[in-house]
Amino acid sequence: MADEEILQEDSVEELALPPSEDADVEVEREQDAPAVAELDPETRARRDAALRHVRKLGDPVLRATAVPVERFDGALKQEVERMTELMHDALGIGLAATQLGILHRVLVYHAIPEDLVTALVNPVLEWASEEREWAEEGCLSLPGVHVEVERPASVRVRAQDETGEELQIEAEGLTARVIQHEMDHLDGVLILDRISREARKEAMRTMRETIEGRAPQQSGHGAAANGGQPADETQPPPDASGSA
Ligand code: ZN
Repeated sequence: MADEEILQEDSVEELALPPSEDADVEVEREQDAPAVAELDPETRARRDAALRHVRKLGDPVLRATAVPVERFDGALKQEVERMTELMHDALGIGLAATQLGILHRVLVYHAIPEDLVTALVNPVLEWASEEREWAEEGCLSLPGVHVEVERPASVRVRAQDETGEELQIEAEGLTARVIQHEMDHLDGVLILDRISREARKEAMRTMRETIEGRAPQQSGHGAAANGGQPADETQPPPDASGSA
């Protein structure tokens, strides 16, 4: 049986990140969040269509390092617009160009509903707080996976916008987290690389079960879905913490 090798993520083990064995990491099913089945059909169809454009684990482009953008032209503007649209349609709160197979150092995020969408081109981390926080993260490239990830609580990032204008962003909380998650994508790093080996195994299993359209077994409410049910019905909810 192929078990967690099925997604061919052999590089995951090699990335040298501090072990987080002490962390209480587990895949949390958010039973309070609205289930995908509860989304209205139009929203759900749009979400599914958008997700088809997002590269999933196993696609080598997710492990590639994106290159800096040098041309701030109409094509870049269109790229940012498309990323923004797909992020919204997929009900995500952030998206990196690499997730669409584009090796540009470009990301968009919309962590706080009241804020405008922000696009960062060529982002560089200038400063990160000593203070670190644990919080749950999802990823549009890892269907069904939600894991606790530890990151600096606040960051300062220098970047450009899609017109080439210099930006400096100071962020904390969810915004800081999304920015770091997306910047990781630009360097081929996934949340799987920031969790313990055990949590990673669990995450890979959840993802495989999600892809196969089976209900995850570990969540207590049993394998509700078998035979005949469309795969969508068994997908985990679009989490409250947001996927990016
Ligand atoms: Zn992601």
